[in-house]
Amino acid sequence: MNETVRNRRVSVFGLGAMGSTLARALLRAGHDVTVWNRSAGRMAELVNEGATGAEAAEVATAASPLLVMCTIDKAATEAVLRTESVGQMLLGKTVVNLSTGSSDDARRISSYVQEKGGRYVDGGIMAYPRDIGKPETTILYSGDAQGFAEHKAVLQAMAGKAEFFGDDPGTASVVYLALYAYYFGALTAFFEGAALAERAAVNPESFRRISGIMNTMLADGLCDITRRIAEGDYSGDQATIDVHHAGQLVVRDAYVAENIGYETTKAYLSYLEKAQRAGNGQRDISIMYASVKDGS
Ligand code: NDP
Repeated sequence: MNETVRNRRVSVFGLGAMGSTLARALLRAGHDVTVWNRSAGRMAELVNEGATGAEAAEVATAASPLLVMCTIDKAATEAVLRTESVGQMLLGKTVVNLSTGSSDDARRISSYVQEKGGRYVDGGIMAYPRDIGKPETTILYSGDAQGFAEHKAVLQAMAGKAEFFGDDPGTASVVYLALYAYYFGALTAFFEGAALAERAAVNPESFRRISGIMNTMLADGLCDITRRIAEGDYSGDQATIDVHHAGQLVVRDAYVAENIGYETTKAYLSYLEKAQRAGNGQRDISIMYASVKDGS
């Protein structure tokens, strides 16, 4: 079998909301896709669309040089890979694990796959299924550089931006978890802000439109704080920690008066107060990074 044909074969394990969408994107890109799912019923639709359904995980393992795993978490993926019949077929395979899990999970599974003669690349999908298959969508990867390079073109059918973070299989998962913590923290703050605005008859859609102002301000603010952190420049020339704290107490009172949840404001106030206790009340808000980094 020539190399081009071999490289078009990919097996997808786990056909939930995300895995089935990944498989569909690979099919659309013309790849020869084999699918396996714990509950066999989930394979039928993809088989109708052109995939080959594997009756067992070892059949899907044998079918392709590239194995894309997307089960509920890395522990579930590991259990599949550690099945004796699957384990003995990992020689020469590249396993790309896109299930959520810790960096320790990723490193442990990588060692196991390597022991079996395979290559391991860990990954984190930075998208909902609706954005899979688009050139602007990102999946983060780290692990076996050769395995990644060899299959990069196939992986780009799932998300055009395939960002590789080096040969530690744990890195992609740390960055993935950190980015989602940022996204969902911001989303929670948006919900709280929208609920407050709604009390003034500004509906969530209108609030979303006006919130673009803060997205622009945030992008600019992030550049300023990362520059300040890099340079150790915490001079309070724009607004001090004390000024931010006084302003946020007014925000808190508005939430309390309206009986709206304000957990993100509580967290923000708590970090500001920690900075004040450390004697940083007259410094720039970027000094708050020190309050966050020391979890005590
Ligand atoms: P779903 O709940 O839709 O699907 C879960 C899949 O995992 C199913 O195929 C299920 O099989 C399988 N599964 C569960 N337990 C096991 C097990 N013990 N052994 C084998 N297979 C198992 O989840 P998603 O598809 O949404 O998510 C899959 C992964 O992708 C998760 O790790 C998630 O965090 C990650 N992800 C998802 C995103 C999303 O937007 N949905 C975004 C970014 C990452 P069965 O059908 O038999 O139950």
